[in-house]
Amino acid sequence: MRKPFIGGNWKMNTDGKSAVELAKAVAQKCQQLLSKVDVSVCPPFVYLSAVKNALGSSGIGLGAQDVYFEAKGAFTGEISCQMLKDVGCKYVIIGHSERRHVIKETDAIINKKLIAAIDAGLLPIFCVGELLEERKAGKTESVVKEQIQKGMAGITAQKAKAITIAYEPVWAIGTGLNATPQQAQEVHLMIRQLIAVMYNKELAEQIIIQYGGSVKADNAAELAGQPDVDGFLVGGASLKADDFAAIVKAAAEKKK
Ligand code: PEP
Repeated sequence: MRKPFIGGNWKMNTDGKSAVELAKAVAQKCQQLLSKVDVSVCPPFVYLSAVKNALGSSGIGLGAQDVYFEAKGAFTGEISCQMLKDVGCKYVIIGHSERRHVIKETDAIINKKLIAAIDAGLLPIFCVGELLEERKAGKTESVVKEQIQKGMAGITAQKAKAITIAYEPVWAIGTGLNATPQQAQEVHLMIRQLIAVMYNKELAEQIIIQYGGSVKADNAAELAGQPDVDGFLVGGASLKADDFAAIVKAAAEKKK
């Protein structure tokens, strides 16, 4: 049985004070749901340590929004996997659409980041998703398949167990336009079937596939009700503890 997993991606938001306040409020509101769901928050790099302290022993996992694949050296501005581990990170988001499309990160870079993160003992949240024009052109399946095949290239079944996949249609991120539950389910099922072909049925059954894209308290329950939707990666709504907690609760109440 897959345990739903909800991640909060705070993106380039908060400051030192509000990050700590938000983390404390999320811990307080979500702690009692952790027997049914896994929860993480991903603040900006500079607030990771402060947020780790604020989360305390709540059981809520700490995640980073990105990582570099090299271990150390002359890579100005970059952050290594060991640095993330050092400040208490368990998770790391890799291949977010804003990094793919704004920063122009390629599948090859994403693949190196996934390998480095897994080898360092981090749990990657690997994001994939199509652009609006790709969906309109009927290319959703081929785009998502290619992102997964290239992103997970050379990663063994044993290592792939560390990965959570987040299906995030780019047209739904931060736009208020979420995929319908049926659209999400269709792609999630396709991803699970692809994992069965690339690896094996066991991994396909185990792997957590989050949906992301304008998830809110009022659409979370219906999305969570889809058989292959195992939780969410939440952007905007993760910045308000009440909204995020309501989404976590909806996922916790997912019917088995
Ligand atoms: C995200 O950035 O991963 C995301 C899903 O954002 P939002 O919930 O704001 O659409």
